Amino acid sequence: MEKDLIGSSHRLGILGGGQLGRMFIQEAISYNIHVHIMENDTNAPSSSIATSMTLGDITNYDDVLDFGKDKDVITVEIENVNIDALYELEQRGVKVFPQPRVLEIIKDKGLQKEFYQKHNILTSKFECIDENTPKSDLIQKIPFVHKLRTGGYDGKGVKIINSESDLATSFTQASICEELVPFEKELSVIVARNENGEIAVYPTVECEFNDANLVAYLFSPASISDEIEQKAYKVAIDVINKLELVGILAVELFLTSEGEILVNEVAPRPHNSGHHTIECNITSQFEQHMRAVLNMPLGSTEMTRYGVMLNLIGSSDSSGQAKYEGLSEIISQPGVHVHLYGKEMTKPNRKMGHITIASSTMESAKQLADEIKNKVRVTT
Ligand code: ADP
Repeated sequence: MEKDLIGSSHRLGILGGGQLGRMFIQEAISYNIHVHIMENDTNAPSSSIATSMTLGDITNYDDVLDFGKDKDVITVEIENVNIDALYELEQRGVKVFPQPRVLEIIKDKGLQKEFYQKHNILTSKFECIDENTPKSDLIQKIPFVHKLRTGGYDGKGVKIINSESDLATSFTQASICEELVPFEKELSVIVARNENGEIAVYPTVECEFNDANLVAYLFSPASISDEIEQKAYKVAIDVINKLELVGILAVELFLTSEGEILVNEVAPRPHNSGHHTIECNITSQFEQHMRAVLNMPLGSTEMTRYGVMLNLIGSSDSSGQAKYEGLSEIISQPGVHVHLYGKEMTKPNRKMGHITIASSTMESAKQLADEIKNKVRVTT
């Protein structure tokens, strides 16, 4: 009989030790998987529950190589890692998922957009620009969206340029200048693919962002027609197949008023728009990512309950030791699930945790979300 992978104490390494790794470990433990992390912060969210923690810089070649060389599989929590070291590990026979080739494309928004263009995946018009691009060219393009090619996250590398003065205070590094899409909704589809090429897609969700560009509300499933849902699935499957990615992929989409679906960007790892899957779908995105990178059969993505997810974000006016207000009150309500990320210190807009409200109808989930959203606060 073929040796079963499940239960065979695989050594899996994650570059990064934040909340995504923490929720991944919570699932991997059930399969006897040993999860080792590399992080430069001893107090990182997954440091206390990982099998081991290596202090190191995930962007440093030697650190990544050293960490990865005795692992069976390496995965990531964030795209900004040392890709050359991952190529070397791949050469030495370590499985690296998402593959370095894919990370290289996704890490750079310019290469990512070029990939969509080359593979006929609908996306907004764009141009790669740098400090040599004449200002007069850019002025003509106002309004547009200015995005750093690398290193941005949670909207930190994104600026909407509505005027010449916005442009004057915007980025000077290599960026992309993207057409402003007057979207009707922001959707996300999470899709997974294992080494055998098996694919599983989650129901489309809808995200509402706050002023700090963080997901304020997530609704699962999205309130869209079957036709749009099918279109969104098709796009997500098309993207993961064309990337030939192994692992999970969050595909962020814009839905326009004409019913067009454009790809905004993708993330090759568990994503904020999939946290509700822990309680609201048969297989969580974290378990699915683990299954995909270990080439296990993928789990059912079927929805079991309607869900609303709220991020628990550090108040914009306080930094220091985190305190949580209102949690006891809200967890007395059935279907309210709290996830705290183990971060000792809060900062303005820092993601400290999330709350999923799971219910048998979307109306009741939304109603409960409305009731509790102002009752919880992260302070100092
Ligand atoms: P990040 O990688 O930091 O999450 P995104 O590319 O997702 O950055 O952009 C952040 C937000 O900016 C999006 O969720 C969306 O609300 C807005 N945005 C991005 N690109 C466009 C665009 N072309 N047109 C309109 N809004 C956009």
